[in-house]
Amino acid sequence: MSVAPPHTLETTIGLEIHVELATASKMFCGCKVAFGGEPNTRTCPVCLGLPGSLPVVNERAIEYTTRIGVAFNCSIAKRSLFARKNYFYPDMPKNYQITQYELPLATQGHLTLDGESGAVSVGVTRVHLEEDTGGSLHVGGSGRIADSEYSLEDYNRAGTPLVEIVTEPDLHTAEQARLFVAELRAIVEALGVSDVRMEEGSLRVDANISVRRAGEVEHGAKVEVKNMNSIRSVGRALEHEEERQRKALEAGETLVQETRHFDEKTGTTSSLRTKEYAFDYRYFPEPDLVPFEAADEWVEALRASQPELPAERRVRWKQTYGLPPGDVAVLASSKATAAWFEAAALAYGGDAKKIVNWIIADLFGLLNEAGIDLTECKIAPAQLAGLVGLVDDGAISGKQAKEVLGHMFKTGDDAAEVVQDKGLEQESDTAVLDAVVEEVIAENPEAADKVRAGQLNTIGFLVGRVMRKTGGSANPKLVTELLRTKLAG
Ligand SMILES: [Zn+2]
Repeated sequence: MSVAPPHTLETTIGLEIHVELATASKMFCGCKVAFGGEPNTRTCPVCLGLPGSLPVVNERAIEYTTRIGVAFNCSIAKRSLFARKNYFYPDMPKNYQITQYELPLATQGHLTLDGESGAVSVGVTRVHLEEDTGGSLHVGGSGRIADSEYSLEDYNRAGTPLVEIVTEPDLHTAEQARLFVAELRAIVEALGVSDVRMEEGSLRVDANISVRRAGEVEHGAKVEVKNMNSIRSVGRALEHEEERQRKALEAGETLVQETRHFDEKTGTTSSLRTKEYAFDYRYFPEPDLVPFEAADEWVEALRASQPELPAERRVRWKQTYGLPPGDVAVLASSKATAAWFEAAALAYGGDAKKIVNWIIADLFGLLNEAGIDLTECKIAPAQLAGLVGLVDDGAISGKQAKEVLGHMFKTGDDAAEVVQDKGLEQESDTAVLDAVVEEVIAENPEAADKVRAGQLNTIGFLVGRVMRKTGGSANPKLVTELLRTKLAG
């Protein structure tokens, strides 16, 4: 058997993403939607699937799903239908899930990603609405079902509106897949339709990945990767899985279609089950719900009232503030960060790039160290603007400002207050500095002569002496000017 060299292999990735909607009540009943809580306290006959109970559609969930469809440039179905997906599993008390099959709410969309290697258009096959299952807790053994003693069921989550977004297999690297999920999260967050917390399961990502020899028409054996609990994990898991499949193909092995579980700790995937047959879910139209038809005016009204989405925001920031794409990507990554930056830039009024540098280089560093989020930060956007303003006015040096920021971070005080409390004001009184400069010139005649002879780079040495004498409080710009006037002028 001939073994293909590595450069002739290509990777294909498709994503299936589930988003729990942040509606007040569940999809087909009035039970509250929330995370966690005492098990089985948010249930009723409908979401427990008791005989004789009937579902009623949550209109807000339809609106939210349509908004997602519009954001992904989908065509919105004129007529849409719920279907029953029949299967038996304890976390689904009705023994069927109400989902969409033949006529989903939105189809044929796309999203353009600005990747490292240029723009990539990713097709969105469908966006449909369904209900979430409950949760199982396997007790005893490793916590996996196989060696547990018994399982507990919690139906608080059962019936939560869940949107499924399926992409075309248009992604070709782990990085593209990671970018897609990050962009999807930012879009859904901007729409305000979900809290998109991967760690709490309100955003769940499954990926299909296959590697084949370039030029082959058939995709390679499709491997489904599960349990990626953060955006970073999506990148790590797929990078690992791509490498594993490439190595296997290079070694002449045959890959099998299977589902693999990603392990956060080891950064590797392991086989969960092989898919030897497809389940027959016996889909049929849900007899307890009528089809629904979206009026054109209703869809147009939604379209017109969509909030600003991340891609639009990035373009506006580039135009308004002249920010480079790297900074924009960081700041636009979450709604909270974007709002914080805009408030600071507005309060500052000057070159927004200065504010950006303080946020990315300094504030993010402090947040990281403290292990907290920007939303928990004691510094308000206007307070950061105030600090940068003090540096602009020459009241404090850039170095002092970093110290001031550290204090502000702990106390939430205004920059001016911290400067006063700590006695950090820069000495900008020419009369005071003049005397110190004279002293330094007298104490360092050789250096002074060099400057007089035109060696202007020696000024730095003399400035350093002045700074030392003043305990770092002298305004270095003013000191440099004084030395120039006295020696080179
Ligand atoms: Zn209920």
